[in-house]
Amino acid sequence: MIVTPISRPTHEEVLRVEDGSCGLIGFIAVHSTQLGPAAGGLRMRPYDSEEAALEDALRLSRGMTFKNAAADLPLGGGKAAIIGDPKTKTRAQLLAFARAIDGLAGRYWTAEDMGMSPADMATMATVTPFVAGLPDGAFASGDPSPITARGIFQAIRTTARFRFGSPILAGRHVAVQGLGHVGWHLCKLLRAGGARLSVADIDPERAAWAGQSFGATVVGADRILEVEADILAPCAIGGVLNADTIAALQVRAVAGGANNQLARAEDGAALHARGILYAPDYVANAGGIINVATEILRIRDRQGFVSDKLAALDETLEAIFKRAAERGVGPDRVADETVAAKMQRLRAA
Ligand code: NAD
Repeated sequence: MIVTPISRPTHEEVLRVEDGSCGLIGFIAVHSTQLGPAAGGLRMRPYDSEEAALEDALRLSRGMTFKNAAADLPLGGGKAAIIGDPKTKTRAQLLAFARAIDGLAGRYWTAEDMGMSPADMATMATVTPFVAGLPDGAFASGDPSPITARGIFQAIRTTARFRFGSPILAGRHVAVQGLGHVGWHLCKLLRAGGARLSVADIDPERAAWAGQSFGATVVGADRILEVEADILAPCAIGGVLNADTIAALQVRAVAGGANNQLARAEDGAALHARGILYAPDYVANAGGIINVATEILRIRDRQGFVSDKLAALDETLEAIFKRAAERGVGPDRVADETVAAKMQRLRAA
């Protein structure tokens, strides 16, 4: 295995990991350890290029710094990406990547993200202790996505309260993009809350199944961002809110689980200009890392910790919405400034 450091002024540590014997190429990005060990998931995708995978890890690890800070966790931001189709992943690849993570001696903790499962984390944990999201064991936190969905559901209710004057979702129309781990759990909660759903996934069978399971209207994956609805919940990939899609949106609010929903920082202002209330993604979707944190931090009362942190997260979102309304700017800007100011305060202390 060859581990090559890559210098990036924006990040504390970036590694390229290659193991020719098992066809592994991936990246580990440690954005910041200022608040604690960097924590963030490992993603496997058939990226078009090494640059695309590196860029994803860099962007997502920065997002994790903001997410962990917004959730008030004593954790920094990191993320890892392996190039490849998750359907073809091998045990040898997971073990080799785990050895690279072990080499960081706890400066980076991994967990599952797109293309990874708790069973994969268990495989990696045979090599390194710096793995969370395990299916069993003393502090195992398992699949984080149900808690992620719980946090997003809460964020959607709060978004509805600020946009429509009531958090009650009965009769509200929510368009959900992506019906994977997070999107599926979210649909369950929204349905139980009485919301009317339009759903889409690039996997047509999954979309049809969701249609049946939740009495949802199934929409083509290329059309979901144009559905006329109250709220859009992006729960698939990043970068879905860009100049083109924002112009076509027919919703009054966006609150969902995908990381890095805004293609560029300016896109938050574009949403604001169109009068669309945006729940900053790293606040709305921090439930998963809160759950994972119980394992990293060895928290005994997991449920209590998760409930308290989710309640605090909701207050944080409320405060962001209030401040944004007072200042007449987008909530994403207030969220970024709040976290940056907090990190600066801590640096100065
Ligand atoms: P997943 O891989 O289980 O599900 C993603 C789903 O989106 C899949 O069903 C896929 O077919 C679908 N999809 C992909 N591209 C699409 C497109 N263009 N249009 C419609 N559907 C599309 O992943 P997940 O764990 O559910 O995560 C979803 C998003 O939430 C990701 O951005 C992830 O980073 C973020 N997130 C996940 C968690 C978690 O706990 N799993 C926590 C925080 C953030």
